[in-house]
Amino acid sequence: MIAYTPCTTESLRARLANVPAVTERLGTDSSVWDVREVGDGNLNLVFIVQSLQGALVVKQALPYVRLVGDSWPLPLKRSVFEYNALIRHALRDPGRVPEIYHFDEVQALVVMRYLSPHVILRKSIVTGVQHPNLAADMGLFLARTLFRGSNLSLPAPQAKADLALFSDNVALADITENLVFSDPYFDAAMNRHTPGLDPWITKLRTDRDMKVAAQAMKHAFVSKSETLVHGDLHSGSIMVTAEDTQVIDPEFAIYGPFGFDIGMLLANFLLGYFAQSGHEATPGDRAAYRSWLLSVTRDTWGVFVAEFSRLWRTERTGILYQRALFEDQGDPLASEQALQDVLRGIWVDAMGFCGVEMHRRVLGLAHVEDLESITDDSRRLIAERRALALGRHVTINRAIITMEGLIALAERIEE
Ligand code: ADP
Ligand code: MG
Ligand code: MG
Ligand code: MG
Repeated sequence: MIAYTPCTTESLRARLANVPAVTERLGTDSSVWDVREVGDGNLNLVFIVQSLQGALVVKQALPYVRLVGDSWPLPLKRSVFEYNALIRHALRDPGRVPEIYHFDEVQALVVMRYLSPHVILRKSIVTGVQHPNLAADMGLFLARTLFRGSNLSLPAPQAKADLALFSDNVALADITENLVFSDPYFDAAMNRHTPGLDPWITKLRTDRDMKVAAQAMKHAFVSKSETLVHGDLHSGSIMVTAEDTQVIDPEFAIYGPFGFDIGMLLANFLLGYFAQSGHEATPGDRAAYRSWLLSVTRDTWGVFVAEFSRLWRTERTGILYQRALFEDQGDPLASEQALQDVLRGIWVDAMGFCGVEMHRRVLGLAHVEDLESITDDSRRLIAERRALALGRHVTINRAIITMEGLIALAERIEE
């Protein structure tokens, strides 16, 4: 066995030349493979390997945070969590994640389908390209992966085994716990922000209601082990074509609240929404695109609710809300009441997470290209202030805000 070594475009050839799952796709002459490193994420190496016969992607974890460097070590084991999440996602929502061809735990390396001609959704949002199936695909993905990873669906031994497996993803959970829920609200070392934002940041960091709400959401994140969440579900973890949607990069997977992935994703749609004005060549030329992003926000949740409800009615095989208590006693209304109660809790958490995600993408370490690529500082500042304002409102008012209220407020703030 060869000890872990980060691959180079050259060493990767030797590493994969004897892997049947690779050679059956690329051929056995590794010298003719074309290898390119394309990783643009914050953490890992990603290679595209191509031959005349086929292509695939190799993702390898580095023992540190790529964005920061080797001063910030990070366990290689995150590839185990990514692999295990990917194979579960493939079963729970078939066709929505890249097929896995090979996993090498020692090398922390996952070989998977090369998504092509897919592009990262965030880049599409920056350029203003619509994807008609996006909301439906993501609403279904959220409902199916979250429902089917929970005690609403899984046999108890499996749910508990997975809870134990993913509970070891401590280092990545720690990143979320600090970067999302705490760092934005104090002068943490790795924070950065657009200089003109200082007055708003001072206000936010002395905002008692906001800080309490953010910590309530952190409390929910660390204590509600409701289902297997993707853990990093933003528009940079989704690859799209005109028709297709693929979800990648679940290395942050852990048992967490139902509302976590939903809130993070909606926040990223809304960040894209506020960023649009910074990308307009003439004022208003992204107006239709802005409305489309709001419709994606609304419809993703709508499809989630419809599919989660369908699964509730047809696949409730876990230990929670047993049919024996409800339908089997001729009382389906009680299970419908319970469904509304559960959906309500998911929505409230989702809104809480949505707001803090909007904040940390403006104030924390990891910013989003939607805003970063606005070259005019004053326009970026306006977009960021709007994101901060909406984020504060939705997190603090998570228990009373509705989807209509969220959309109306986003439109009002944008005016
Ligand atoms: P990180 O964990 O470092 O963020 P990602 O899994 O997000 O890594 O991958 C980084 C980039 O590599 C993606 O933004 C995308 O451009 C590319 N990529 C990752 N997986 C694939 C794939 N299966 N097919 C094509 N490109 C991919
Ligand atoms: Mg990524
Ligand atoms: Mg990642
Ligand atoms: Mg960045």
